[in-house]
Amino acid sequence: MKVAVVGAGIVGVAVAHALLDEGHEVLLVESREPAFGPSRGNAGWIAHTDILPIASPKILRQVPKFLADPLGPLSIRPAYLPKLLPWLVRFVLAARPHAYERSIAGLGALQQRALPAWQARAEKTGLTRHIHHNGGLYVFGDTDVLEGARSIAKRQASFGIRVEIIGPDALRELEPALKPRFAGAAWHPDTAHISDPHQLTLALFEAALARGAVFEKAEVSNISLGDRPALIGRDGWQRVADRVVVAAGAWAKPLAAAMGDAVPLDTERGYNVSFPDVSGILARPVSFEGHGFVATPLDSGFRIGGAVEFAGLHAPPNHARTRRLYDKASSLIDGLPPFESGRLWMGFRPSLPDSLPVIGRASRNPNVLYAFGHGHYGMTQSHATADLVAALVAGREPAIDLAPFSPKRF
Ligand SMILES: Cc1cc2nc3c(=O)[nH]c(=O)nc-3n(C[C@H](O)[C@H](O)[C@H](O)COP(=O)(O)OP(=O)(O)OC[C@H]3O[C@@H](n4cnc5c(N)ncnc54)[C@H](O)[C@@H]3O)c2cc1C
Repeated sequence: MKVAVVGAGIVGVAVAHALLDEGHEVLLVESREPAFGPSRGNAGWIAHTDILPIASPKILRQVPKFLADPLGPLSIRPAYLPKLLPWLVRFVLAARPHAYERSIAGLGALQQRALPAWQARAEKTGLTRHIHHNGGLYVFGDTDVLEGARSIAKRQASFGIRVEIIGPDALRELEPALKPRFAGAAWHPDTAHISDPHQLTLALFEAALARGAVFEKAEVSNISLGDRPALIGRDGWQRVADRVVVAAGAWAKPLAAAMGDAVPLDTERGYNVSFPDVSGILARPVSFEGHGFVATPLDSGFRIGGAVEFAGLHAPPNHARTRRLYDKASSLIDGLPPFESGRLWMGFRPSLPDSLPVIGRASRNPNVLYAFGHGHYGMTQSHATADLVAALVAGREPAIDLAPFSPKRF
């Protein structure tokens, strides 16, 4: 079959490989360049142990405190609020206890497949050197939060995830550069991080081309109906395929709408600062709980990033936010290079209110499939998603129930 994939971020590239495995002819269409979006600059953590959606009964209590600080871990630009309201309503609904439990079941099932899928792809493409199995840490400033982590660890254990709650001494042994300000940490020995998201997405992209995928630069503005859907672009550009996969990240909403699915996709903008060629500060990714940022020792340098800003796809970045992340980080980690030596970046997480991606068939055309909306975990979930999409293309029963990921769930 000929399959056209819209979007050459990590999800589109992963889908291309899964389709090539099954002997399909693959056309990858990208409007900008491969790894243009958040797949370029994310924190590089294969965080398959995170099984809790962001919309939770607890977060609703914390939101007012976060919003009080315009440069804090969560912010909404006032001018964007009216546009965001439908998303926010869905977010509140997703935080209701039974909806929250439903999301955990879906997220957990996908996350369980994430690391094995990455390992399998890295082995098949000869890219295992890009994956570092050093585990990851979630560090906590106070003992109450650490106690809360124990109940989360129990939930994680029910998905077969190993988590150990460790005290300050064990934490210092693992990461001596952390200042002695932490009550302890949740230690996830089985998570991994990657060399560099941009380099690895490009390496996988090149590997897909070497396996026979064809790349075209074009902006897809519509998809036709019919057995053999056509991608439609500017100036009469059209490409017909047997199946189309929409992997357009935060930009997928209009394509889904054209296919009859009013999906409440928005973007949680995230920021970071990277220090090229700086190494030796940390050995593994560390998430600073309550501060909304992660520090990752990438092969390309040291990266500090996170935050969630709702301001849509067009507003310019506000790097005062990045400066704030850095200042916080330097109060918690020894030996950071000066802010001025860092490279600043902002990226668009493709986010659904319940923290689950959309994986499934379009309402108006079953030959159009969706693989977008992975929010905070697209790097992690890319290859697991790709395996599910390949099953749909082949008409096989997917390995997990796709109901929680349906475009019609809202
Ligand atoms: C600060 C930050 C830190 C993060 N850290 C992590 C992490 O540690 N671990 C993790 O798992 N995830 C992380 N993420 C999330 C992760 O980066 C994203 O979920 C993931 O990159 C999404 O990949 P994607 O392929 O779906 O989308 P994208 O990377 O956005 O790719 C979509 C592509 O589609 C193209 N496109 C869009 N519309 C069209 C069109 N109409 N026609 C043609 N092409 C089109 C775009 O140009 C783009 O290149 C982080 C994100 C941010 C912002």
